Amino acid sequence: MSEKRIDILIVGAGPVGLLCAHLAHLSGLSAVIIDKSEGPLQVGRADALNARSLQLLEIAKLFDELYPLGKPCNTSSVWSNGQFVSRQSKWWEELEGCLHKHFLMIGQSYVENLVDKKLARAGVPVRRATAVEDIQVSEGGCLTKLSTGELIRSQFVIGADGSRSFVRGHFNISFEITRPQIIWAVIDGIIETDFPKVPEIIVFQSETSDVAWIPREGPIDRFYIRMDRKDFTIDEAVSKIQRAMRPHSVRFREIAWFSQFSVKESVAEKFQYGDRVFLAGDACHIHSVNGGQGLNTGLADAFNLIWKLKMVLKSGASMDLLKSYESERKPVALSVIETSGELVRSTKYSETGTHAEDYVRIVRKRAGNITGMGIRYGSDEIAGTRLFDFEVFDGTRATRIYSLLDYARFTLILFGEGEINFEIPKSTQVLRIHRGKRGGGYWSRECPYVDQAILVRPDSYIQLAATLVGR
Ligand SMILES: Cc1cc2nc3c(=O)[nH]c(=O)nc-3n(C[C@H](O)[C@H](O)[C@H](O)COP(=O)(O)OP(=O)(O)OC[C@H]3O[C@@H](n4cnc5c(N)ncnc54)[C@H](O)[C@@H]3O)c2cc1C
Repeated sequence: MSEKRIDILIVGAGPVGLLCAHLAHLSGLSAVIIDKSEGPLQVGRADALNARSLQLLEIAKLFDELYPLGKPCNTSSVWSNGQFVSRQSKWWEELEGCLHKHFLMIGQSYVENLVDKKLARAGVPVRRATAVEDIQVSEGGCLTKLSTGELIRSQFVIGADGSRSFVRGHFNISFEITRPQIIWAVIDGIIETDFPKVPEIIVFQSETSDVAWIPREGPIDRFYIRMDRKDFTIDEAVSKIQRAMRPHSVRFREIAWFSQFSVKESVAEKFQYGDRVFLAGDACHIHSVNGGQGLNTGLADAFNLIWKLKMVLKSGASMDLLKSYESERKPVALSVIETSGELVRSTKYSETGTHAEDYVRIVRKRAGNITGMGIRYGSDEIAGTRLFDFEVFDGTRATRIYSLLDYARFTLILFGEGEINFEIPKSTQVLRIHRGKRGGGYWSRECPYVDQAILVRPDSYIQLAATLVGR
């Protein structure tokens, strides 16, 4: 029986596993990614990338290809009694340090297909129709048995194998599920309507708030319809949409995807097993789709984890660094569950009977989660916050700081003319941003940081900041 030795074995090639493999490749790590399915998703499931994901995808060199495929959307509206009673986008417009102040409405399949192709081109294709059957962990690493009979020896295993994770079950990691008895239908399709089409997320207010209209890429529209029972037909779901959109008419010319899901909420007790096995994405957190956070939270898990594995494997960092994956990401998952839980319950229960308006109020209150921009690690003043994006000129060419970041290394940014009085760690990228116009080198007009040295992690959170000397 053949035995292969690599840095990371990734179980699951959903969006989170795929991104883990892509980031591992960018980081110079050897990885094998397996999936029991025959190919990437073609329709359905998650529908939006938030502003933070867009920033992260820029660092991962995926943004340029994805962005033109989606539809920007920054407005949540309430439709009641034949008219819009509220249309709000304040929480997006007020975002600081961010260029794309909106959701990018785009199906999960686009993300999966792009990354799947990139991996194939990079010579690390997903090994399809292959499941994991056993994982043994020892001090020296992991030994995984695949359904093909092959044994893979790896330093680490990542379980990105979805809500029914084999990896989580194999290591007996507790995952207690709450079921609030809320069942949704979801329809993606091409509609014909005399409703004035706008790229807004519209929540329809009737006795409760049981229909939401989500704009999507291309000619597709999505509807979520709360049915609260398992046995219903597509016609029953469509007639709920038609009732909500009155006095306008709507019919589906084509249906691309029809599915149902009952809301389940859980966060895994642990995001890692010992030092060697990690869970990411739906394998360690599931919740309702309200607020569009499942895919976005999973992608952020991947960004948080891979650079830490790289630091341990290639730069001699202590294994202790890996503990910060769970200590940083589990609180985020818990806050995401709270947000989506509050949103989904508000569609059914309202003390004042104003479900849809309550919904938008919660979106506003929880905007930090929903935009992704409120996520921070730790509670210090600046360390643990995301680096603000801003315009930078390279000579006369305009670019942005996020275009200059590199997932494969830390970046030390020196703002202004002062010097640092500490040694720069090897392999750190150093960028100096001058104040005001320069003929050569980087300079900025509206830089949010002044006379500071800021060390930025590969996932673009600030590691530490110091004042420059002799400025
Ligand atoms: C039916 C459904 C509808 C959804 N609808 C929405 C929606 O409308 N909006 C929204 O925002 N989110 C939605 N989601 C959630 C969103 O799709 C997930 O948050 C996202 O897919 C999580 O990505 P992931 O990579 O963690 O897991 P997944 O996408 O589930 O990927 C896990 C992968 O692991 C593979 N796998 C599993 N077990 C094994 C094994 N033993 N060996 C090898 N491979 C394995 C699977 O084949 C799969 O490809 C939906 C999810 C589901 C299941």
